[in-house]
Amino acid sequence: NMLDPIAPEQRPWLMERMQQRRRGELLPDIVEAEMVRKDGSRFTALVAPAGLYDDKGNFTGFIGAMIDISPRKELEQRLQDRVAEVEQLNRTLTTLLADLQTTNRDLETMTTQLREANEELEAFAYSVSHDLRAPLRAMQGFAQALLEDYAGHLDPVGQDYAQRIVKAAQRMDALIQDLLAYSRLSRTQVTPQPIPLSAAVSEVLRYLEEECQQREARVTVTEPLPLVQGYQPILIQVLSNLLSNALKYVPTGKRPFIRIRAEERDTWIRLWVEDNGIGIAPEHQARIFRIFERLHDAETYPGTGIGLAIVRKGIERLGGRVGVESVPDEGSRFWIELPKGS
Ligand code: ADP
Repeated sequence: NMLDPIAPEQRPWLMERMQQRRRGELLPDIVEAEMVRKDGSRFTALVAPAGLYDDKGNFTGFIGAMIDISPRKELEQRLQDRVAEVEQLNRTLTTLLADLQTTNRDLETMTTQLREANEELEAFAYSVSHDLRAPLRAMQGFAQALLEDYAGHLDPVGQDYAQRIVKAAQRMDALIQDLLAYSRLSRTQVTPQPIPLSAAVSEVLRYLEEECQQREARVTVTEPLPLVQGYQPILIQVLSNLLSNALKYVPTGKRPFIRIRAEERDTWIRLWVEDNGIGIAPEHQARIFRIFERLHDAETYPGTGIGLAIVRKGIERLGGRVGVESVPDEGSRFWIELPKGS
């Protein structure tokens, strides 16, 4: 049968088309048709069919040219599948992106809120500390006046009380000053630049000269010390806190021996301040860097418990790190790490 190669379901449609063309209703055309091979397998082809008719106009068959376009069809299908996949991926990505943007916005809001809360708290701490100093000075002044101008009217107990007021006021003043220094650290504009450690260390040692002499301390500095990326005022404060601790936390009667040396580590400089003092038990080594954390009462070793908090905050503001290694009764090795200065 002439129609054998045409898929059965397409035969009526193809016939109809050929009739139409014969009647002149349709121009010669090329159609896409499903074809059947002898073995029954199918393929898609482009066909240009022309019907053959006898004198009476009866359909007798057709001739036609065709090309197998199934490879193209397959490719088209694969392409469509890929397009669908990409579209699906695109939709997923868009959703993900929207989610990310929301999360990002949430995070930004939270960060802003946190920063504002933090700034508010710092401003509060600053003004409280500041305002506390005026009444404190009055207390101090009047207690001092009592001792100086009214000593004759006070018995020893009264004088002792007045002394204690003066002492307590001094202690509170030191606390407030340290607190102010601590909160100023977050407020100062920091512009890191190359600082020679040697100069900074000798400047601090000059400040501490009297104390060093009093305690007959031996201080060695392994020169030359390198440059670090830092900020002079913060560095001076940090070194001065570390060195005065190294002098202070040595048992009375023992001669303080302080060693200052630097170590290069990749892009970092680590400065060590080592002492032969009382040392710090391992369980306390982390908390002493927190504000108000002290391991001793003010009688044994005077202090405010803010010094090392200033050290940590200062170095963190310069993008560095701090730490300590220590053996109780043998000594401590505090270190600060800052980016290389050149
Ligand atoms: P402060 O010295 O005013 O108490 P710091 O913050 O400087 O405050 O130190 C916190 C605590 O850490 C000190 O009270 C002390 O117990 C301990 N500490 C600090 N430096 C040393 C040191 N070099 N050797 C032993 N203990 C130290």
